[in-house]
Amino acid sequence: MALSKSDFKIATSCSKKLIYKKLSYDTLNDENEYMEMLVQGGHIVSKYAQLTYPNGIEIKSDTIKDALEETRRLIDQNQNITLFEATFLSNEKIIRIDILEKKDKLLNLIEVKSKSHDSEDDNYNAKRKLKEYIEDVVFQTMVLREVYPNYEIHSYLLLPDKSKRTTIEGLAGWFRVNTMIDEKFEIEELPAQSTVKFKKPLVEFKFENDPNRDEYIDNLQKDSLLTLMPVDEEVENMMNEIQQRSDIFIDILNNGIKPEHYSIIKNCKNCEFNLGAEKEKNGFRECWQELSDTEPNIFDLYCGGAIGHYKSGWYFDELISQGKVSFWDIDTDRFRNRKGEFGSRGQRQLIQVQYTKSNSEWISSELSAILNDLKYPLHFIDFETYKGAIPHHKGMRPYELVAFQWSCHTVNSPESEPEPVHSEWLNLDNVFPNFLFAEALMNEIGTTGTPLMWTSFENTVLRDILGQMDIYDYSNDNLKEWLINITSDKDREGRFVDMNKITLDCYFHPDMKGKTSIKSVLPAIWKNNSYLHSVFWFKKYAPDSTDNLNPYDTLEPIEGFLESDEVIKVGTDAMRAYHDLMFGPLSGNSQRKEQLKKLLLQYCELDTMAMVIIWKYWIDKCM
Ligand code: SF4
Repeated sequence: MALSKSDFKIATSCSKKLIYKKLSYDTLNDENEYMEMLVQGGHIVSKYAQLTYPNGIEIKSDTIKDALEETRRLIDQNQNITLFEATFLSNEKIIRIDILEKKDKLLNLIEVKSKSHDSEDDNYNAKRKLKEYIEDVVFQTMVLREVYPNYEIHSYLLLPDKSKRTTIEGLAGWFRVNTMIDEKFEIEELPAQSTVKFKKPLVEFKFENDPNRDEYIDNLQKDSLLTLMPVDEEVENMMNEIQQRSDIFIDILNNGIKPEHYSIIKNCKNCEFNLGAEKEKNGFRECWQELSDTEPNIFDLYCGGAIGHYKSGWYFDELISQGKVSFWDIDTDRFRNRKGEFGSRGQRQLIQVQYTKSNSEWISSELSAILNDLKYPLHFIDFETYKGAIPHHKGMRPYELVAFQWSCHTVNSPESEPEPVHSEWLNLDNVFPNFLFAEALMNEIGTTGTPLMWTSFENTVLRDILGQMDIYDYSNDNLKEWLINITSDKDREGRFVDMNKITLDCYFHPDMKGKTSIKSVLPAIWKNNSYLHSVFWFKKYAPDSTDNLNPYDTLEPIEGFLESDEVIKVGTDAMRAYHDLMFGPLSGNSQRKEQLKKLLLQYCELDTMAMVIIWKYWIDKCM
């Protein structure tokens, strides 16, 4: 059994995971659509990279044995050649190199990553942020040196560069994930993908069969959004360490894992083999055994994993090593900060422990004053945005923000009747939408009242758009002034009020456990206060037979067009839907566009109505 790059990567995070991976245990990544989107993004960047090496030959063999033979044959028979997915096996280690250039006795190993990078960042900082990716390169270089000891080998990362801007309008539309094919090898981008559960995205270049294909490729090369980063020095520095780690992992594969190779620690909370209640082939349950059934447990505590950072060790690791993982094993005195005080985090943790014990809700006496300070009309606002490696529009950088949708519920007075006024905006045109997005919101809410958001995300988006006005030389003095007034930064206090901050300071329900996201607060309030279900404003989310459903579960799915029962329930779904709407295989199909539009609108509308529900409940309790 050979050690691959993704084996090495997963074993580095925990040796026990290597065993589960090789035994094909299920992982949380298997059904994770966001992860799938990342994989697709990675394949699109790979395709882009390959097109910038027009003479490259892809090794497309059905078996690893054939891929090894084909790679060897092409390298032996050609003095100069560029290969994609060149495959090598040496000393029980196997690699597939994204791009390999052979020039006589020189080999350039190029690892393509979709991770963003800013070439204007100073070199030390940039490389520090890329450490885990450089480890991948070291692993591959080590194998290549074993196979070709007499060659000069240089190693590189090839990455989307955030300091560059595309000159091509609609560049993202040049690449299309048309069909998904069964992958024969594991997908390297997913560390815990043991067996192949995703189909490999087959990325097509839109102009592949166009008579002017070469011209388009030429444009792509001139556009050059990727940066080649030499990492020879880092490879040298890390080689011994990576070699030692590889030897240990190969030993584990051959002789089994021993207790000294791993231990259960606080990081297990986010282990991809933690499948919750599922018992079959659940890696977390196997590692934690009877401790895995403890309810409530230490992981339910708000920011519990951060306790002890200023001491010699983490508090949760200490508890776990003693077999104390119950929520009630937690010593509240440990919530003190380095000054020995209960800071804002410690106070929140104390509230959680106290009110979980009494199984009751907590509302701070300050909530009433905070709500009274809000100036009407109240505008409950939510944004949906997109960021991708390959920019949508001319002038954009890789991973630059696209603000494509907002929803707003406006409550004009505390006694507001009839219902809050809903307004919304969704970009449907293939243009850079950010300034239109902000202008539409400005025209809707103007300069009166209090805009409310959940977390500081909306503030960050509008600040980004303010910065983009200068970069894109966009002239609208009213918009600029409005953006300055509504947003906060380190020097100024803007109009936005953050309901997540109000929750942290003033509200807790035991059903929320340690979470304060809107997706945790809404169900806690909705489920425990059934009178809200008959409030006229919210009737839509409480159909008679499903009164107690989480409102997000009442969103209407769209019956199968591409997939059955599509529904958008989280922000990353919205991101995918927007990209599909603009550049998906059916972006020209009006029926499909209508479906995606409906899904996006109903999701964003509920996000802002959820804020209204929470506010309404707080008002009812306080007034
Ligand atoms: S539960 Fe913990 S010890 Fe077990 S595989 Fe996951 S991270 Fe490793």
